[in-house]
Amino acid sequence: MTEKTISYSEKLLIVMSSFTKNMMSVKTSLDVYNALLKTLNNLVEIKNFAYLRYNETLENKLEFISLSDDLSIDENEFYDLALWIIKRGLPGIQSIGKSNFLFIPLNKNPKILGLLVVELSNSVDSIRQEDIDIFNFLKFQTSMVLESVSLYEQLQKKNEILENLYEYMQTILDSMDYEIAVYDKGLKTTFENKKFKTSQKLSEEVVNTIKKLVSKTLETSESQILEFEDLADGKSVFYSITTFPVYFNFQDQVMVILRDITSSHELDRLRKIDEMKNQFIATISHELKTPIAAIKAYSETIIDSIDELDSETLSSFLKTILEQSEHLEQLVSELTDFSKMESEMFELNKEEFDITKLCKDLIVSLQEFASSRGVELIFEETQPVTVEADKNRIRQVLTNLIENGIKYSDKNKNKRFVKVSLERNENEITVIVEDNGIGIPEDLKEKIFERFFRVNSYLTNEVSGTGLGLAICKTIVEKHAGRIWVESKPNDGSKFFFTIPVRGD
Ligand code: ADP
Repeated sequence: MTEKTISYSEKLLIVMSSFTKNMMSVKTSLDVYNALLKTLNNLVEIKNFAYLRYNETLENKLEFISLSDDLSIDENEFYDLALWIIKRGLPGIQSIGKSNFLFIPLNKNPKILGLLVVELSNSVDSIRQEDIDIFNFLKFQTSMVLESVSLYEQLQKKNEILENLYEYMQTILDSMDYEIAVYDKGLKTTFENKKFKTSQKLSEEVVNTIKKLVSKTLETSESQILEFEDLADGKSVFYSITTFPVYFNFQDQVMVILRDITSSHELDRLRKIDEMKNQFIATISHELKTPIAAIKAYSETIIDSIDELDSETLSSFLKTILEQSEHLEQLVSELTDFSKMESEMFELNKEEFDITKLCKDLIVSLQEFASSRGVELIFEETQPVTVEADKNRIRQVLTNLIENGIKYSDKNKNKRFVKVSLERNENEITVIVEDNGIGIPEDLKEKIFERFFRVNSYLTNEVSGTGLGLAICKTIVEKHAGRIWVESKPNDGSKFFFTIPVRGD
């Protein structure tokens, strides 16, 4: 079969099948142009070629992607013509100088994509109208492929950018000294940084706390911050957890930052201990100095002037010495208790006894101290209640509370009282020590149970004390699995409560 005998439809079929075959494996824009050129080889004799991409941002609007070495074009003439052809959107044959060129513009309305320029070896006369129709057909088909390929290329570029960004983020997050993870709605991690992956296994408590915070963040779309102490494995580890909502992988997720802040807590703790130690030395030396000075002064007076002192004065001096010695003894015993509690050598000796009777006896023994301060001691008698507890320690708690009620009574009130009562509930007994004394400010009601804490007011400062009594009471009550608290109003009075389980274990 000679060339002349090929019909239009046969030619079209050959071109179509060549086009399909050539376009089959294209991946880049360059591949598309190559495939088109290869297909054109069936129709024309190609001498030279050039591929141009349309780029709105360039001055000439066109950039060469590829061109054969021998293509000779006069650039000035070429750009104007090429742009005119591209805008017209139709393939055409043009003679420039001695050469003949086939131009195939590539566009998909309204988008201009590029231009294929072919320098022909054959004469313009050999190209017929039917060839132009086929060029047109090729222009449409190629434009479609080119657009998809350039979209694909753009997408790939975007993916590359995203991948780079992801890697960049990962590097940053990996270099951080915190555990960072992203959790999805199923509370599973979809991202973990290096520190999170390599950190020692988190305790169940930490994991559950994180999950709770993640759920709350998902529910409220708000960031959460929590500091908490993990006591798993018998040691204390402090964590700070921060969560915030992120949109990741097309889903609402939660980023979690976990930080071990134990060392800063430890520093805080040591600083507090140091402060406490200073306070302790100041308070104790003051508290010891006063009775010692009194004992010394009275003893010296007695020794120096024993012959001149009448028996009444002597007895009052000796009474003061005794009182101050008792005060010293109490101070020393508070200190001993405190150091036992600090070193955790504090043991209970439990026995069964009637707490009602204990209260009653105590009221009798403190009666004199109360009357010396003008305070009435009242006991609201109830049925006997047997508890199993450390009797001496419970007596110590009660004594401390009653003595405080007396010590911190309000001198401006004519009638001053301290009332002790008992309330029996199902499994526990509540002991109540109420007074109408100076009261305690609302914000200090918990602080007064801390070691060495004393309310800083002129009313309190008038009264001597170490600030240890209530801390010791709290330890004793809690050792018995009970609770201690206070209800109070400044100037009205205070009501201290403590509970002990009726059936001790
Ligand atoms: P101390 O009495 O040796 O100072 P406590 O630990 O017994 O130490 O009490 C701590 C502080 O609580 C007291 O310094 C005082 O400020 C306050 N406080 C305790 N009991 C009462 C009370 N019944 N009324 C008013 N304030 C009280």
